[in-house]
Amino acid sequence: MTTLDIPELALVALVGISGSGKSTFARRHFRPSQVLSSDAFRAMVADDENDQSASADAFDALHHVAATRLRRGRLTVVDATNLQPHARAGLVRAAREHDVLPVAIVLDVPEALAWERTEGRADRTFGRPVLARMQRDLRRSYGQLAREGFRKVHVLRGMAEIDAAEIRYEKLF
Ligand code: ATP
Ligand code: MG
Repeated sequence: MTTLDIPELALVALVGISGSGKSTFARRHFRPSQVLSSDAFRAMVADDENDQSASADAFDALHHVAATRLRRGRLTVVDATNLQPHARAGLVRAAREHDVLPVAIVLDVPEALAWERTEGRADRTFGRPVLARMQRDLRRSYGQLAREGFRKVHVLRGMAEIDAAEIRYEKLF
């Protein structure tokens, strides 16, 4: 079992390519109300969770809700790929503004497995090159997360480690 220590009050950024299992992991380990997913916010603002033209508005709304939750002292999980430094920077900033610790949980599965899963989904229509680019962004992210301000960076490599992970909450005081 891999135990992931997370402060009771944290902003948790899931980091992983499409098909790595972020939403599945979020469902398994967190309450639905704790999870803010980019898909759900795209659906909220555009009636379509795949409408990429709605991404900017969706992330605006997501960040607004995240900030509100952190101000109220609620653990918040961001279920988005979070592969780009600029996407993560907004989360680190929001956490800092609310004196909350930003934590990253990286889900790293073989690209071929993620592709197999993605191909089987009617709601994912991008091609293999897009996934390959995500994989490159993930590789690049490894060296950057701690430097960007994430206070803990938990890395789960491969299915077995992901499935064996358990979350343990650290008391703040
Ligand atoms: P996206 O970034 O596109 O939203 P994601 O990282 O959220 O992708 P999921 O939707 O969680 O990925 O998983 C993709 C597919 O892989 C799902 O159909 C799910 O059933 C399968 N899957 C995810 N995690 C696991 C797991 N731990 N064991 C078995 N199957 C899994
Ligand atoms: Mg997902």
